[in-house]
Amino acid sequence: MTIVDTPERRQLRELTRAFVTKEVLPYLDDWERAGEVPRSLHETAAKIGLLGIGFPEAVGGSGGDLLDSILVTEEVIRSGGSSGLIAALFTHGIALPHMVASQDDGLIERYVRPTLAGTMIGALAITEPDGGSDVAGIRTCARRDGDHYVVNGSKTYITSGVRSDFVTTAVCTDFPGSGTLSLLVVEKGTPGFTVGRRLEKLGWHCSDTAELSFVDVRVPVANRIGPEDTGFLAIMQQFATERLSLATQAYATAQRCVELATRWCRDRSTFGRPLASRQLVRHRLAEMHTRAEAARAYVHDVAERVAAGEPVVTEVAMAKNVAVAACDFVVDAALQLHGGFGYLRDAEVERHYRDARILGIGGGTTEIMNEIIAKGMGL
Ligand SMILES: Cc1cc2nc3c(=O)[nH]c(=O)nc-3n(C[C@H](O)[C@H](O)[C@H](O)COP(=O)(O)OP(=O)(O)OC[C@H]3O[C@@H](n4cnc5c(N)ncnc54)[C@H](O)[C@@H]3O)c2cc1C
Repeated sequence: MTIVDTPERRQLRELTRAFVTKEVLPYLDDWERAGEVPRSLHETAAKIGLLGIGFPEAVGGSGGDLLDSILVTEEVIRSGGSSGLIAALFTHGIALPHMVASQDDGLIERYVRPTLAGTMIGALAITEPDGGSDVAGIRTCARRDGDHYVVNGSKTYITSGVRSDFVTTAVCTDFPGSGTLSLLVVEKGTPGFTVGRRLEKLGWHCSDTAELSFVDVRVPVANRIGPEDTGFLAIMQQFATERLSLATQAYATAQRCVELATRWCRDRSTFGRPLASRQLVRHRLAEMHTRAEAARAYVHDVAERVAAGEPVVTEVAMAKNVAVAACDFVVDAALQLHGGFGYLRDAEVERHYRDARILGIGGGTTEIMNEIIAKGMGL
């Protein structure tokens, strides 16, 4: 099965492609060097309705569902964008859904609407220096003090953490490591909340990544998302969307690299003949194409089931691992087919090769996905 191609979705693809061509491609190299994308890009994407795809109009979104968000992600990358750009521009895809699901009007007005309008930037902070895979082991704690929580602890590897105006923060509301979690929205500028180092990375260069520190940070109780101690469930529920987004980034990166490598192999001649005329090369391209297409079909199938409300936690984990494996194989092969040029910053495959490495780590590692799959098998 594949995502049904309606006239509206074709329009959405065209809108996305035009946005990337005009607003991204001329500047992406500069943003990679600068280590971040400009705030104005969020506003531009919001104005044409792209930023709010997948969020209801009632909270300031543009409507559409998970499948529409997937199409946007796919098209951004296939138009020459990158998974790093998706991470930077669409961080709200992980920062806002818990607030939307809570139906808390105060939080929706203060954070969801402005973010979907492109005037605010949000981040999601779960991972801590002591560990990311073990979400229940979170040690950043929030102690209740009247109408406030007092937060102490630290977070790391937080996407858009340098630029963000607020951070949806997972905190422990009992003793550290108790697994009793809540989500608090912490605003930049709150005394005791500091953004530390801008972290330097292998890939995703246009996406800023930060360390965050909380020392006696007073956060109003009104900034808690949902009832106390419901954070763990809320995080787990939203992981499905994040994992499918990462799976989409993986197969779309693979598809883009198949296109780039195919073009290259048609144009490049060695020993008097185009590379694409060699059986070894043709078969390599065929295998790359097959893996990318199989991953795309499976991710679409699982996404359709998630959108239909099916509880497919195991399948989401399998979709992420299938797509990441396809991507890893394809980016490596695509770079190799480009020869020395593939190793240069001038080559688009070089960026995809570096960017791809995070996809099997973020949103739950390949090993953690395998744990989920094993549990699903009854092991
Ligand atoms: C560029 C980037 C952006 C990120 N953005 C965000 C963000 O916006 N918000 C956020 O909260 N986090 C973010 N992260 C963090 C990311 O989600 C974590 O790095 C990831 O969940 C893994 O956690 P960890 O790094 O602490 O590794 P660990 O949990 O320490 O794991 C280390 C290794 O051990 C393996 N492992 C762990 N447990 C087991 C087990 N039981 N069995 C077998 N193997 C195991 C893991 O698979 C991994 O290979 C980001 C990370 C990066 C690099």
